Amino acid sequence: FRGQVTLDGPSGTGKSSVARAVAARLGAAYLDTGAMYRAATVAVLDAGVDPEDAEAVARVVAGARIEVGTAAETERVEVDGADVAERIRGAEVTRAVSAVSAVPAVRRRLVDQQRSLVGSADAVVVEGRDIGTVVLPQATVKVYLTAAPEARAQRRALQLGISDPAEVAALAADLRRRDEYDSSRADSPLRPAADAVVVDSTDLDREAVVDRVVGLALA
Ligand code: C5P
Repeated sequence: FRGQVTLDGPSGTGKSSVARAVAARLGAAYLDTGAMYRAATVAVLDAGVDPEDAEAVARVVAGARIEVGTAAETERVEVDGADVAERIRGAEVTRAVSAVSAVPAVRRRLVDQQRSLVGSADAVVVEGRDIGTVVLPQATVKVYLTAAPEARAQRRALQLGISDPAEVAALAADLRRRDEYDSSRADSPLRPAADAVVVDSTDLDREAVVDRVVGLALA
């Protein structure tokens, strides 16, 4: 395989694990753009800045060195040389990331960085929200992964080892809140590109989704 595969969609669709597996199967590089917005959020929190203060957020992110790896097998995420791969998955970052990623200057900076990271790869799988629409509109294969909110909350709960129904409901509420926030933005990326193939994973297991996307890439 040579070319670019974009994998967009809301959180909790199993997008990250699908994207990594597809990249491994295709022998392609892999870029997790959500990890970059999360790393930017770590910089904002560490600077003691209010994530809702767009000007301060833009200033902090402009001065932060955000580095991510592009290998499917390993995850490398650093902010100013510090390893933040675990921290970016924490609740504090997850709560603040939508506000940080809504700042236009932050998006411009990270989109530029995403394009230059992808530029040097023969084959790459890039996952996010706006990859097929904004970051790589000329991509070879575009996939938009969706799933019912309840299925997404269940999946997240399984990942986190949560079985308490109240906690699962709280997860579903958080997913809905992030979707609404992400899609309320003027330049909302939470919609499929006109030429994207929409894959609904509600009733598919991970392997079936991976097979589908690999099939599309190799078609
Ligand atoms: O994919 P993940 O859940 O790690 O993304 C975290 C957050 O980063 C999303 O909720 C969204 O606010 C933001 N994001 C974005 N554009 C992308 C990828 C992620 O705005 N391309």
